[in-house]
Amino acid sequence: MELTAQSVWSNCLSFIKDNIQPQAYKTWFEPIVAVKFSDNALSIQVPSKFFYEWLEEHYVKILKVALTKELGETAKLVYVIKMENTYGNKQPFTERIPSSNRGAVKSQEVDVPFNNKNPELKNPFVIPGIRNVKIESQLNPNYNFENFLEGDSNRLARNAGLAVANKPGGTSFNPLLIFGGVGLGKTHLAHAIGIDIKDKYPEKTVLYISAEKFTQQYIDSVKKNNRNDFIHFYQIIDVLIIDDVQFLSGKTGTQDVFFHIFNHLHQNGKQVILTSDKAPVDMQDIEQRLLSRFKWGLSAELQTPDFETRVSILKNKLYRDGVEMPDEIVEYVAKHIKTNVRELEGAIISLIAQSSFNKKEITVGLAKEIVEKFVKNTKREVSIDYIQKVVSDYFQMDVSTLQSKTRKRHIVQARQLAMFFAKKFTKASLASIGSQIGKRDHATVLHACKTVDNLSSTDKQFRKYVEDLSKKLSL
Ligand code: ADP
Ligand code: MG
Repeated sequence: MELTAQSVWSNCLSFIKDNIQPQAYKTWFEPIVAVKFSDNALSIQVPSKFFYEWLEEHYVKILKVALTKELGETAKLVYVIKMENTYGNKQPFTERIPSSNRGAVKSQEVDVPFNNKNPELKNPFVIPGIRNVKIESQLNPNYNFENFLEGDSNRLARNAGLAVANKPGGTSFNPLLIFGGVGLGKTHLAHAIGIDIKDKYPEKTVLYISAEKFTQQYIDSVKKNNRNDFIHFYQIIDVLIIDDVQFLSGKTGTQDVFFHIFNHLHQNGKQVILTSDKAPVDMQDIEQRLLSRFKWGLSAELQTPDFETRVSILKNKLYRDGVEMPDEIVEYVAKHIKTNVRELEGAIISLIAQSSFNKKEITVGLAKEIVEKFVKNTKREVSIDYIQKVVSDYFQMDVSTLQSKTRKRHIVQARQLAMFFAKKFTKASLASIGSQIGKRDHATVLHACKTVDNLSSTDKQFRKYVEDLSKKLSL
């Protein structure tokens, strides 16, 4: 049988697969494509230079064994690096082979005769000459576990956070993804985990960074042509906390680099903690391979706190600030501000400020005035039930008809409109909208939203439905 790149590589792969961890195999070997075989040299295409370096550093032995087994002692391996979409990366490699006609795909070939030379790691983020470099953790000591009050809404996330803090990298919560709406305590909890780890394991390097800042640093590193130093810097962190990863949406370069950093940390038993305003299934424009990594660990949701928790959060805050306030007023505030802990705190702070600036006593009347200002500014949220009711009424059908499995066109359209408005007017996730409107999955809801968008720009009658319903729902 004639040997082809594919057949040689597939034999190598089955040997490699039997000899390394499944996770490592998935990460480092599945993405490789065999592209050429000639003169007993196999060319494999790898996604990035970093990927190639990683293979060289960690898997060169097994690659050599596998290839020699297939092709004998004269076997050669050639890496083809898919060029990354960056302007940097001009450093010449050991050797470049003129590439054969590869059409539009820009690529770089590196011939590596199995010499495993470790490249010297240079790191601009670290002052040279100092051993055991200290990296500032960027943690806010006020955001600790002690003042992150527990309630039903956050119990899972808080306890998962504590478990991670006790054994960073040593639980199955890796990564730990904390998700939830605005002002529900994601940033606070993420800091609390970092602070607790620093307390228990002072020797560990912990770093908190927002996804936005991470992206900025990455872009700078590309401009300054030290992308690899950027990567190496992040690879020496023991506990990496990245806040608001939804910010990476659509930023493929940053996602790519984060993917590699993540894999490195994960494989070395380092802990990764992420926060996001959406559940993984609802994240858009995040690469699939990265999403699948997010799902490796635990996604823990922070929900809106119930009344009791809201009261205890307020009381705790007042206690820490040394302010006394009648229970009646605390309860009034907690009763009326429901969806956001930041607003809850904001209301109580302005209440204290108002009363001390104007020398007014804190009364329920004053509390009412202030709470109204807060509540007015936050758009009233309609419920998904209410939306289904309004849409069904409008089309003169029952809610149960709207939710049914029927494929009749006008019912399907009503259902899609309900889904569309649920997405538009509530903060519910696609998955949760789907489960509430006739037990559909998130993909169905996404499809419904797209269909409504399309139809309302092409179909006049349909646009009228959308406008009428919008009016009814935003009253
Ligand atoms: P997010 O990052 O989810 O938008 P934050 O972590 O910034 O929210 O939290 C908003 C505010 O609410 C912060 O001041 C935080 O301390 C407070 N907060 C949120 N949840 C709790 C809680 N369970 N106990 C005490 N304070 C909380
Ligand atoms: Mg935050």
